[in-house]
Amino acid sequence: MEIPRSYLSLINDDIEYENVSFSVILVTAVKLPTIFGDFIALAFHQNIDNKEHLVIVKGDVVDKENVLVRVHSECLTGDTIGSLRCDCREQLEGGLKKIEDEGEGLEQLNEFKPQFDNLIHSVIL
Ligand SMILES: [Zn+2]
Repeated sequence: MEIPRSYLSLINDDIEYENVSFSVILVTAVKLPTIFGDFIALAFHQNIDNKEHLVIVKGDVVDKENVLVRVHSECLTGDTIGSLRCDCREQLEGGLKKIEDEGEGLEQLNEFKPQFDNLIHSVIL
């Protein structure tokens, strides 16, 4: 799967939302083969709070309507370690499987920087 040229035009989009103007900058776009299928990983930086977000996409969905979209809040213990104290990993994988089945769509992974207290609570609670 090649990276659609339309993704490269996403660089430095100026966005205005609720009277706040900000930029979302595409940092990189790479092919991402996974156990669920072949995807494209798009890494964005937005300048309001200087956070990075990752979008896992299949197909060329720029300017398309009715695209399958799932937003995922990253969870260190669930997503990477497979903790059974939450179902984050199951939801993340379910989203990727559905996108693969549909042949098109995207899953946005919102950056979640766990505070140390949150991490400890997610492990011991
Ligand atoms: Zn979780």
